[in-house]
Amino acid sequence: MKHNILLKTNILVCLVVFLGFLATAVLSCQMNYSASVKNIEQVSELTSEGIYYQLTTLFAKPVNISLTMANDSLLRRALLEESSNLNNPEYEAVLTKYLKAYHDQTQYDSVFLVSAASQRYYNYAGLDRVLSPENPENDWYYAMATSDQEYAMNVDNDEVKGKNNEITVFVNCKITDDQGQLLGIVGVGLQIDSLQTLIQSYEDQYQVQAFLINSAGDIEISSHYTGYERMNLFSLYPYQDEVQKQILSWQSGDASNPFWVKNPQESQGQDYVISRYIPQLQWHLFVRQDTGELLRSLQRQLWQSALIITAIILFILYIITRVIRTFNLQIIELTQSVEQEKRSTFEKATEELFDNIYELDITHNCPADAETQKYFESLGAPAGTPYDQALKVVAEKQIKAEFRQGYVDTFTPANVIRAYENGQDTLTYEFMISTGGDYFWMRITARIIQQEKDQSLHMLTYRQNIDAEKRQEKRLQALAQTDEMTHLLTKSATRRHIEQKLQTCPDQQFAFFIFDIDTFKEANDRYGHVFGDTVIEAFAAALCSQFRQDDIIGRIGGDEFAVFYPITGPAAVEDKAKALSKALNKTHTALGCTWMMSASIGIALAPQDGCNFETLYKSADAALYQTKKHGKNSYSFFKAVPHEHDSSKD
Ligand code: GH3
Ligand code: MG
Repeated sequence: MKHNILLKTNILVCLVVFLGFLATAVLSCQMNYSASVKNIEQVSELTSEGIYYQLTTLFAKPVNISLTMANDSLLRRALLEESSNLNNPEYEAVLTKYLKAYHDQTQYDSVFLVSAASQRYYNYAGLDRVLSPENPENDWYYAMATSDQEYAMNVDNDEVKGKNNEITVFVNCKITDDQGQLLGIVGVGLQIDSLQTLIQSYEDQYQVQAFLINSAGDIEISSHYTGYERMNLFSLYPYQDEVQKQILSWQSGDASNPFWVKNPQESQGQDYVISRYIPQLQWHLFVRQDTGELLRSLQRQLWQSALIITAIILFILYIITRVIRTFNLQIIELTQSVEQEKRSTFEKATEELFDNIYELDITHNCPADAETQKYFESLGAPAGTPYDQALKVVAEKQIKAEFRQGYVDTFTPANVIRAYENGQDTLTYEFMISTGGDYFWMRITARIIQQEKDQSLHMLTYRQNIDAEKRQEKRLQALAQTDEMTHLLTKSATRRHIEQKLQTCPDQQFAFFIFDIDTFKEANDRYGHVFGDTVIEAFAAALCSQFRQDDIIGRIGGDEFAVFYPITGPAAVEDKAKALSKALNKTHTALGCTWMMSASIGIALAPQDGCNFETLYKSADAALYQTKKHGKNSYSFFKAVPHEHDSSKD
């Protein structure tokens, strides 16, 4: 039970500590999450802005250069004159020189010119090829030629000889004549690697994904794709249609359009997306960062915290339990040794005082030592008899009938356990026992002890012969209710005995006598009080000699006595009264003095003259009054209408 309480307390404490720690960890995770979300917003916006400005700066120059070339009248004139110089090497050399001059100055990967009339493709190394609409590689040119844009950009492989088809961003500008007719397309090309490296560096540094997409959502440049692969952003991130529209329709100058949207690839988590339009490129810069990784890392953190907390708590629990166990053991050992010491001292001290000491195992309902076992066997309870059965055998064999039930009820295991549970560790019972001869008084004092080793309840019984003590007690009781001079009952004891007798024998008839010594005052006055005392003693002795042992005889006043005894009828009482009057009328000699002793007697009968002491006393006293009135030394019966009777006349 104690272990259970210790275990329950430990578990409760651990649970409280664990929940406390867990609540703190959850709160800290929530705070981390909100801080991280803010961080995501800030980082994504800064990244978007950084990439945006780097790109606009990067592309401003090639666009300007391409536009400068497109508006160069020299180039316009050259294209107008092309038809007459198709086979002129000098013409081609001039164009090549022109383009090479730009190439040398700008160091762009490509500087090219396409003639609308001849479809010839020139670059800084000379005439490269002639475009044909059948070749899909040339779609860019025909698309540009038919569009109404002044310039446009596209990502393509560079087909120029010796360029290994490297993926390049081309800036294409239209050259028109004064009437707006297309003369050709001029532009520059930048290899894409540097742009991808730029985007990659942002992505690595800020854990975002950045894409340059066109108005259809196709990826033009990202760290992993180029426009050449024709990958659509929304194949990678299948946002809902309205989200896609929101991203692609944003065309507001420098401003960005950031918002949170549900992550389309994960069940939990959100994406923070920023769309920004770059008018110079006519592309959108799309930057996104999701909370998926953040949530995963927070979950990891929470699990780690929970594991660490559990490990710490288990460790503390182990230490605390060990410490408590060690202390408990020490306390038990200490208690046991103190208890043992007390017990041996107590046993030693009581061995001389008590006749026998027996030990019972109450929990297991059996004798706890060989001595007790032997005692039960000696009374006829064989080995193996349960204690409660043996208790009945002892009661039957040794204990006086009227004490048997009380003895069994007091020491039965159920009562012993109940007493111990009520905080009582001692039981006593006094009874009369016989070990072969007469019955004598015995007191059993039982001490209830819980054994530390197995928590069982034991009872040590100490038997003490209290016969002498009881007899003395009886003597003292008798003394308390008897008159010192005459050894007769006092008035209150007389009353108690008479009431008791009337109650126990309600159908019996009784006679109640009151005696008053005649002219006793005179004896005192004439011969002194000491002589008076001898008269009282002599009178009491004379009175006692007239009655039986069981009759109630008391001194109820200074020279007044009462007797109460059972009768068979009034006739016998009359005879008794006569005899008494005669017996008490005698000469008393003491201390050298002689005095004539006589008594006045009043008689009442129970039940007719009274059923209790008070009424009987009153009735007898009234009768006594009559006796005195008629000259004393006689007797009178109580009569409702007083009827005088003088014995001297009989
Ligand atoms: P009556 O015949 O009417 O009974 O008269 P009486 O002289 O006996 O007078 P009464 O009964 O009134 O007086 C009793 C006397 O007994 C009075 C009191 O001093 C005396 N007395 C009472 N107790 C004792 C006692 O213990 N010893 C002695 N020596 N005298 C006692
Ligand atoms: Mg008197």
